[in-house]
Amino acid sequence: MSERRERIDVPFFDQPATFQDLWPEIRRNLLRVMERGKFSHGAMVAEFEQELADWTGARHVVGVNSGTDALVLLLRAAGLGPGDEVIVPAYTFVATASSVVLAGGVPVFADIEEHGYGIDPLSVEKVLTPRTRMIMPVHLFDRLADMEGLRKVARRHGLTLVEDSAEAIGMRLHGVHAGLLGSGGVLSFFPSKTLGAIGDAGALLTDDDGIAETARALRHHGRSGRTLDDFPGIANPTVLAGCNSKMDDFQAAVLLAKLSRLDADIDRRARLSARYDARLRRVPGVLTVPSAAAPHPGGGRVVYVHLLQVRDRDALAAHLARAGVGTETYYPVPLHLQPCFSHLGHAPGDFPRAEEACEKALALPLYPDLTEAQVDRVCDEIEDFYAGRRR
Ligand SMILES: *Cc1c(COP(=O)(O)O)cnc(C)c1O
Repeated sequence: MSERRERIDVPFFDQPATFQDLWPEIRRNLLRVMERGKFSHGAMVAEFEQELADWTGARHVVGVNSGTDALVLLLRAAGLGPGDEVIVPAYTFVATASSVVLAGGVPVFADIEEHGYGIDPLSVEKVLTPRTRMIMPVHLFDRLADMEGLRKVARRHGLTLVEDSAEAIGMRLHGVHAGLLGSGGVLSFFPSKTLGAIGDAGALLTDDDGIAETARALRHHGRSGRTLDDFPGIANPTVLAGCNSKMDDFQAAVLLAKLSRLDADIDRRARLSARYDARLRRVPGVLTVPSAAAPHPGGGRVVYVHLLQVRDRDALAAHLARAGVGTETYYPVPLHLQPCFSHLGHAPGDFPRAEEACEKALALPLYPDLTEAQVDRVCDEIEDFYAGRRR
């Protein structure tokens, strides 16, 4: 490689650039909201919910203000009661476990798979207690968790299975979309997600009429003035008190436009990810690339995050930063070692696979409008780093 090669910066994420071709349609939708003059409870949310229901195959889509609130509403609507335990992976975004706390439950951690990032069904069985009520797997980065294995555990022990499918738009198992593989799931439309808004937004997906009805009530102040007698089948009075978690009509207007390009965006992500893998799988120092682990049988791959495991992770990240290449550490600290969960009494070594992933994981830039030249540039820099050439 020439020492004088031209420098192309590669930001980790470049939001506005990723959908410039959609700006005319987005502007039209935003103007429709302005002209109608109804800025809450507007029609755009319902329109987006319907389109997303068609795209995912969900019987119900409930638009809310974030993926995190979607998780809280899902847990409450699925019947989580005070003190009930929910088993979650130790390796995930913090909202997976904090949503359990916010819903009045207790998160209980389990380790991840040996060759993947989903919660390990065997580890789940080890942390069951008489208070276990639910299992909430997370579909991280590019693959579903082991849903067949987890369904067996849930069935055997009479547990409810809900999914933190915040990252999993487009991921399907035997054709069934993520979030619909148990009692319900969520999507996040945080700007960097595969389908990103221009602010915060999220949705709850379910085929269960009761969960959908309860979640719709909870996102808008619940059922004030009503009693449990009005809701046969609902045992838990906490579902009467709601919050204000509605999706914003402007976000729905943007998401509606972007949904029309989602299939093409997912294809583009797959091609860019394959280009990274073709170069990086042979680089010494790169320990795993995403395509090294196959999806569970029947599951497809949708690359939201292109995550490597590497040697000398922090030094590589610093080298790339100096070279103008942005990276992210998903996730820097396993949840059982986070201060906000210290009351659960865990110590280093409790979930070794989660801890190892946190030490080695590095996410590379991946978004539909990233160019091939930018991908090649990132690969050049990683090769240079492990070849010991620090310029
Ligand atoms: C993004 C994300 C969330 C939270 O979504 P927000 O919309 O940012 O609240 C929850 N869980 C996982 C796994 C996520 O990646």
